[in-house]
Amino acid sequence: MSLNRRTFFKFWGVAGAALAFGKSLEAAPASDDGVELMGVLYDASRCVGCQTCEFACADSHNMEFPEDGPSTDIKRSLDPTKRTVVNWYNLPDGSEGYSKKQCMHCNEPACFTACLTQALYKTKEGPVVWREDKCMGCRFCMISCPFEIPKAEYDNNNPRIVKCNMCYHKWADSERPACVNDCPYDALMFGTRRELLDEARKRMLENPDTYHPHIYGEKEAGGTSWLVISPVPVEQIGFNNKIQLKSYPTLTKGFVSSIAPVDLLLPAFLLGLYEATKVRTQNTEEEEL
Ligand code: SF4
Ligand code: SF4
Repeated sequence: MSLNRRTFFKFWGVAGAALAFGKSLEAAPASDDGVELMGVLYDASRCVGCQTCEFACADSHNMEFPEDGPSTDIKRSLDPTKRTVVNWYNLPDGSEGYSKKQCMHCNEPACFTACLTQALYKTKEGPVVWREDKCMGCRFCMISCPFEIPKAEYDNNNPRIVKCNMCYHKWADSERPACVNDCPYDALMFGTRRELLDEARKRMLENPDTYHPHIYGEKEAGGTSWLVISPVPVEQIGFNNKIQLKSYPTLTKGFVSSIAPVDLLLPAFLLGLYEATKVRTQNTEEEEL
């Protein structure tokens, strides 16, 4: 079935409603024009650490394939060459567990609020994306993110901020995120946030022995588009379970409203300055060649 962008979103809205069972306690927030938030459900009980998602992600973003793999000794971190990583954990009961990490695509992202030029941008469909033409390189997004996700390319003269964008660049062609598409074990599911929460509850209800009763991301940081269910408490597979439940931007609202109007012009000035410096750096390099 071929879906254009409009029918793709409509399809997921209808599918989400049709598949929903029971009453969602945390309905997916919709944007002003009624587009429901999309997201991904990661089921750690199904993940075997095969890394297919990492390779699919690298391929989708024209990045180098990872050369390292999950190990019980070393916990791999996100870096400018990796938008997602899979790690392997020895669990307290003697078994093994895996977890996949990437941007959680918060409903109210701290990175978006911290970014003075809105280079980190929350789309109405859910993905939080980085816009190169708006970025002035301040890296406030890195400092503000409670999940420690955005990474900067330090060895690049014009460093980019690197993080998962839920493959938003492919949505116009009705393609799902590459990791979801390629996961051979169905550990990842794409859908409306409402549908995913219902699916998570359904799996827990039908298999109470398989899951720890917590949907990570349902409430953390005010709710996220990426949701995690797991056989064990999520902190045992590397997730920070000390994330506050209120959205982080609510903490900064008072601060932002106290900024004098003249200061609001500062980001535009700094962005202009940054762009001018970039051009001059490039010119100097070209002259030196
Ligand atoms: S592709 Fe699926 S099973 Fe393999 S590591 Fe990624 S999420 Fe886990
Ligand atoms: S996880 Fe961090 S980078 Fe991703 S949307 Fe939330 S605040 Fe932004």
